[in-house]
Amino acid sequence: MNVAEWINTAEYRDLNFARKALVINPTKACQPLGSFFCAAGFEGTLPYEHGSQGCAAYFRNNLSRHFREPFPAVSDSMTEDAAVFGGRANMIEGLKNAYEIYKPKMIAMCTSCMAEVIGDDLKAFISNARDAGSIPEDFPVSFAHTPSFIGSHLTGYDSMLSGIIETMSAGKFNNGWRNGKLNIIPGFDAHIENIREIRRYMGLMGVDCTVLADNSTSFDSPLTGEYKMYNGGTTLAEAADCVNAAAVVSMQAYAAPKTVGMLKTKYSQQAAEFNYPLGIGAFDTFLVKVSEITGKPVPEAIKRERGLAVDAATDAHPYFHGKRFSLFGDPDTMLGLVRFLMEMGGEPVHIVSTNGTRKFAKEMEALLASSPYGMSGQVHNGRDLWHMRSLLMTEPVDMLIGNSHGKYAARDAGIPHIRIGFPIVDRVNMHRYATIGYKGVLNLITWIANAFMDETDRKSDDPHFELLR
Ligand code: SF4
Repeated sequence: MNVAEWINTAEYRDLNFARKALVINPTKACQPLGSFFCAAGFEGTLPYEHGSQGCAAYFRNNLSRHFREPFPAVSDSMTEDAAVFGGRANMIEGLKNAYEIYKPKMIAMCTSCMAEVIGDDLKAFISNARDAGSIPEDFPVSFAHTPSFIGSHLTGYDSMLSGIIETMSAGKFNNGWRNGKLNIIPGFDAHIENIREIRRYMGLMGVDCTVLADNSTSFDSPLTGEYKMYNGGTTLAEAADCVNAAAVVSMQAYAAPKTVGMLKTKYSQQAAEFNYPLGIGAFDTFLVKVSEITGKPVPEAIKRERGLAVDAATDAHPYFHGKRFSLFGDPDTMLGLVRFLMEMGGEPVHIVSTNGTRKFAKEMEALLASSPYGMSGQVHNGRDLWHMRSLLMTEPVDMLIGNSHGKYAARDAGIPHIRIGFPIVDRVNMHRYATIGYKGVLNLITWIANAFMDETDRKSDDPHFELLR
């Protein structure tokens, strides 16, 4: 047997799963990428990486390719001398250049591995840069230490969000007085149309909300012929005032635990956390919770949309029923998709999450156990896409769902691949379609059911190439 055939066998799969010292194509990115993604959601904010230039180029490249938009961010370009003597000088010069050339309203600073390995202290260095006159005394620089040898892009997103809130809200907490707004944290959601959908639903309910952080405008702005460097949708005034809201709703519990914890304990906010509420049941629960927190009822217009989604789900149910799915991605995305698939009669089989935690595994197992469609579900925490390939080749399924990196395994397994997550660099416009809300239900159903029908047509011989599917 040659190697190409051997890697498709159960024997190889067992060896692959015994692998310990190597990760191949993980389903996660590094911390500063999540920080950049978060920082882009704030008005006039320049993401700044204290560390090596190549890292910043990688984050910019990934974000630009997914969203097909320019993505401005800077680094202070630490090299060998900084690794020996520390990056203080880089920061003093870097902050001065960033402030003078790009004229931001806020700089949001994170670190690459190099700065973390040598132990650079951001707080002290920023203070040194102020003393050296690089930036004015009152110019806001939010910061987050983001060592990528632990955590993932989710950790970086969370640390930057809590860092920005802490910096901007200093001295703004009016103990006991509430601003009448609801904080909503979308999480690391590459399908940014979801933010617009959340705002639309809140508008229909008459709920005044602050989205932390609204990067939908940064990563999808109109082409007018005039370049605007900053498009973040959450104003700095909103960031400062968010500590005075009565409650916070997180759409992705695993993407912002630190921020939610801070708003809950330090600012006494009521908190509700969701795991990417995809599908009808999960989104119903989200709206009911918002209604309960704010006292605003769910209006007829939303109930009508729900009815349309239920109708579409009923029509498409036969195309999902009994189909086997493999999925990979962030913990919240996995929980959301599994719930949605089981609601539609599909069977989640392999669930791979490199940044999954023990808590996530338990939650997923409980979710799978809650439905007869979850009986074949296996949770593969900390595994990567080379493990996923072994699973697809030895325990076949009907479809793979995950970001673009799954396309090689899907091709080897000869199954369709639906792109959900980050990055999606081989399809256009996926970020411009919602996945949550009742419109999200329609989109998910359309993509998945039509892919199955395309597959049937593609594989049919002449006598079975039917008009009706
Ligand atoms: S893992 Fe560390 S060194 Fe690699 S790109 Fe991320 S921050 Fe840079």
